[in-house]
Amino acid sequence: MFSKILVANRGEIACRIINTLDKMDIKSVAIFSEADTNSKHVNMASSSVNIGPAKAEMSYLNIGSIIQAALQEGVDAIHPGYGFLSENSEFSEAVESAGMTFIGPSSSSIKLMGLKDQAKKIMSQSKVPVVPGYNGTKQSEKILVSEAKKIGYPLMIKAIAGGGGKGMRLVKTENSFLELLRLAKSEALNAFGDNKVLLEKYIRNPRHVEVQVFGDRFGNIIHLFDRDCSLQRRHQKVIEEAPAPNIPIKVREKMHSAAVDAAKSINYVGAGTVEFICDCSQDHEVNNFWFMEMNTRLQVEHPITEQITGLDLVEWQIRVAAGELLPKNQDEIVINGHSMEARLYAEDPQNNFLPTTGIINHLLFPGDIRVDCGIRPGDQVSPFYDPLIAKIIVKGQSREDALVRLRQALIKTEISGCVTNLSFIHALSLDPQFADVHFDTQLIESKYGSLTKNLEVPIEIKVLASIAALGLADLSDSFSGFSLWEPMEISVPMSFGKVFVKVCDQNNFSVVINENIFSVNRVGWAVNDVRSDAKILLKDSQISIFSKGSWYFEIKDPLNPIVEQNIDGNNITAPMPGFIKLVNVQEGEIVRKGDLIIVQEAMKMEHSLIAQKNGQVVKLDVEPGEQVEAGRVLVELGPISERIDV
Ligand code: ADP
Ligand code: ADP
Ligand code: MG
Repeated sequence: MFSKILVANRGEIACRIINTLDKMDIKSVAIFSEADTNSKHVNMASSSVNIGPAKAEMSYLNIGSIIQAALQEGVDAIHPGYGFLSENSEFSEAVESAGMTFIGPSSSSIKLMGLKDQAKKIMSQSKVPVVPGYNGTKQSEKILVSEAKKIGYPLMIKAIAGGGGKGMRLVKTENSFLELLRLAKSEALNAFGDNKVLLEKYIRNPRHVEVQVFGDRFGNIIHLFDRDCSLQRRHQKVIEEAPAPNIPIKVREKMHSAAVDAAKSINYVGAGTVEFICDCSQDHEVNNFWFMEMNTRLQVEHPITEQITGLDLVEWQIRVAAGELLPKNQDEIVINGHSMEARLYAEDPQNNFLPTTGIINHLLFPGDIRVDCGIRPGDQVSPFYDPLIAKIIVKGQSREDALVRLRQALIKTEISGCVTNLSFIHALSLDPQFADVHFDTQLIESKYGSLTKNLEVPIEIKVLASIAALGLADLSDSFSGFSLWEPMEISVPMSFGKVFVKVCDQNNFSVVINENIFSVNRVGWAVNDVRSDAKILLKDSQISIFSKGSWYFEIKDPLNPIVEQNIDGNNITAPMPGFIKLVNVQEGEIVRKGDLIIVQEAMKMEHSLIAQKNGQVVKLDVEPGEQVEAGRVLVELGPISERIDV
């Protein structure tokens, strides 16, 4: 067995891997970028090495410095986690040729499954059903248009090198095909350095069901059952569960054996996931499935499989990499109960799920469940990496039981310091279609309006937030020396409007919001005599209220108004803090509505900033590589001038 392993990752997954290393009595080496100097994973590890600047390309994706750190620390093996270099065959080769073990499949497996077109070819040769479509090397627009016609609409355009939902577009009708093709290609070129795409039929009312597989070096390959990951936004998973509900036993068994066949066809070693897209147009039951892709790594949602099987998948990965047999046979693996996982992201559901940043000043999870979390109170969610904060994982005896526990866990979770999706995932967990397994991958999109409307802050919470904004919510502060000879009136600009607060005495306030008057008593934070027992936190300009959920506000500074929304479409503004990856225009250039103007990268996601109208670039105020703040005007558009120099 290994005695020292380097974890080539950060955040929750690095912490999770280090936990297993501790359990197995293996020394852990953390790596960190300059942005992560004091982060949780660094503190948890036996030792740690600084591998470079914040930008992932220069640190967590920098093969040279990671190998050097590993050699310097004298480790036996490297665990890549997920994301970053986990599916990079060049990295696994570099690890092996430096004389260490890569905890993952062979570089040939990574290569074979790394490109979606090639993976589909191999699978169909092995009789694993694949989604019909065009997989060819010819990539001219003319050919792609005619192939698209043959497949029919709706269809998916996918970057063959894609991952994490990037370089992918759903095309509903023929007339938007070319525009979406160009966007997918430019996004793919930016993200993966390869703009080749494949086309495939869009499976209607699809569910995403995947099978966890495991292989060892002796040719044994088994499955660890399935997971449903249909609740997605931007083709990325938000809530997952295991086992996948509502699949007839025959279909389920066929899916498991297709996954094992897929893994066998490439002599797979280690943990892998075979993802299927399933037709559930009849009663939301899975009746048919097709191979979508294979992820040759540990999956984000692996904990739900651990919950129902009682196994530690990271331990298995390490044992298999060390040359041991799979710890169990297929027959010895049984399901016990049902598990669900919700991903807590630093992102704003009401602003199209764009990533957010901030210092997490308060963080509390229920103590009786598993939470995989990469940060502690005081830590920063920076714009450099994935916005995943934590995974909230529950287990119940049945699906119903697990769902109740998930709802309870989400309501008990407290977080403050940046906008998160906590209320959104809670609203999602309450959705009746989710509860009844009447869902498909479109659930979030189709209910976006109502799901985000449910997130509207209750009026009592707004009332309390206004009091907090005035610094009147600190219960330890008894207003010493407080004496009023007449009630004091103060106004406060909140994000939801101007609020007037009348301080009647040290325990009683009267709050006016939109001409409605509320009485507030500090004892039990009673609003109009209804006690809420809310917990109120104020930190600098941030307010959090915990009462039937987590509510977060930022105090609006009247002297520094937040940049107004660009309603007229005349400007291209940065929707969030992040790097400018590509500037596609020059000053004076004429642009058409729908043109790609800027590609901004934040937290490993790319955002295409598109022209909202025809116009001419009047001012270009940004360069590639620049880090910009949210709301900064990057490009100003004006009317197309009369004289155009050709
Ligand atoms: P899973 O399939 O394990 O649920 P995701 O598809 O959400 O996970 O991706 C896992 C992680 O890896 C995420 O952090 C995602 O942003 C990242 N990721 C996946 N593929 C790529 C890629 N090709 N390039 C960059 N990041 C990626
Ligand atoms: P990635 O590598 O980015 O994870 P996938 O090929 O796994 O890309 O697809 C991501 C998601 O997109 C799937 O989970 C599914 O929701 C949706 N999707 C992909 N292909 C299809 C398809 N042919 N029909 C319907 N939905 C699809
Ligand atoms: Mg996928």
